[in-house]
Amino acid sequence: MRLSAVRLGAGSAATLLAAAAIGHALDATAWGLAIVASLALATVLLRLHHEESRMPATALSSTVADAARHASRTRRLAGQLRALRNAAAALPDALVLLDRESRVRWFNEAAVRLLGLRRPRDRRAVLSVRLAGTAIADWLTGGDDAPLDDVPAPADPTLHLSLSLLPVGHDQRLLIARDISNLSRLEQVRRDFVANVSHELRTPLTVIHGYLELLDPEDAPELEPVIGEMRLQSRRMGQIVEDLLTLSRLETRPKLVEEHVAMGALLTTLRKEAEALSHGRHTVTLEITDDADLLGSLKELHSAFSNLVSNAVRYTPTGGRIHIRWRRTPEGAVFAVSDTGYGIPLSHQARLTERFYRVSSSRSRETGGTGLGLSIVKHVLNLHQARLTVESEPGRGSTFAAEFGARRVLEPGGGEA
Ligand code: ADP
Repeated sequence: MRLSAVRLGAGSAATLLAAAAIGHALDATAWGLAIVASLALATVLLRLHHEESRMPATALSSTVADAARHASRTRRLAGQLRALRNAAAALPDALVLLDRESRVRWFNEAAVRLLGLRRPRDRRAVLSVRLAGTAIADWLTGGDDAPLDDVPAPADPTLHLSLSLLPVGHDQRLLIARDISNLSRLEQVRRDFVANVSHELRTPLTVIHGYLELLDPEDAPELEPVIGEMRLQSRRMGQIVEDLLTLSRLETRPKLVEEHVAMGALLTTLRKEAEALSHGRHTVTLEITDDADLLGSLKELHSAFSNLVSNAVRYTPTGGRIHIRWRRTPEGAVFAVSDTGYGIPLSHQARLTERFYRVSSSRSRETGGTGLGLSIVKHVLNLHQARLTVESEPGRGSTFAAEFGARRVLEPGGGEA
């Protein structure tokens, strides 16, 4: 077939030229071309018919067999596709396939139940527009790659969802929304229990502590070490209760107080606190590379930073150095505390922010630790969308850094940086 087409091509060119010449001679080029073009088309059709009638019967039957195979493959694929769709439809997680413009291409039944999508109304709808006014829409338009945890379901606010976006192919994305209501209920029960126990312990502890302070060891010198130990332990218990209450407060807080935090003053306070805690056993230095303030809660940031400073003092032997730094970075700003202390083996580093996780329990207790300091730091930083990083080498020291995004960095005394 290809050969005859080439032949026809060469033949037609010559014929067309001849036609143009004849037409020109007759002073009707267009007419000449039209007539010859029709003739050429008729020739092609005739040739096609001829070749088809010459086609051997075997070639015809193999074409029929090919077609049958093709049809059966198409049926099989369609069946597999149906099975896949049925499986996706039966999944308890909501699935929504989004195209490059974030329009809905397809969704399963759970997306109807959890996200409130409807067929056919929401096919091709821009998902963030369809869910406008919800935390999910803000997350979708914000372009954050990180999953969105524990948000109310748009179709039923009593349900809690956790969402993530996965890339599919080169320009599509799959939104997965999981119903985590049971988990969040359990989490709520745990939070309430810890908050209630801490609250209930606060009053009796205050009473015990008060009476212990009233006891005068001079009345019974033989009891002096006992009274001293009881005072120390009741103070520790009080500190644990206070730290647990702080954690509960941070966990249940939906939003922060957003104020202009003057870092210069805060950093000076932190250095004084470090010196007071160290009692002259360490060299404390402060380095402010850039003038920059923070947007956030002064009270919470102070508590987080002073936990890092107090850890540096507590886990650095006498004679060591504590260095506090504040500087801008291309991403925002960093508050860092470095020490030349005991350091932390790598195997422990990932777990430091867990409640009551300690590398050495005895060292933590001896220095008055509750094991909750870094959990508090992590919570405070999360509320400021900031990140805690740890670099440490046993025997050489550690650097704990709080990294803030540009959105949180303010010009001193002025507006946003
Ligand atoms: P703690 O009250 O025990 O200090 P944290 O939550 O503040 O509790 O810290 C958890 C553990 O991390 C500590 O017990 C300690 O083992 C380790 N750690 C924290 N900061 C430092 C540091 N600067 N140097 C060495 N170890 C540290």
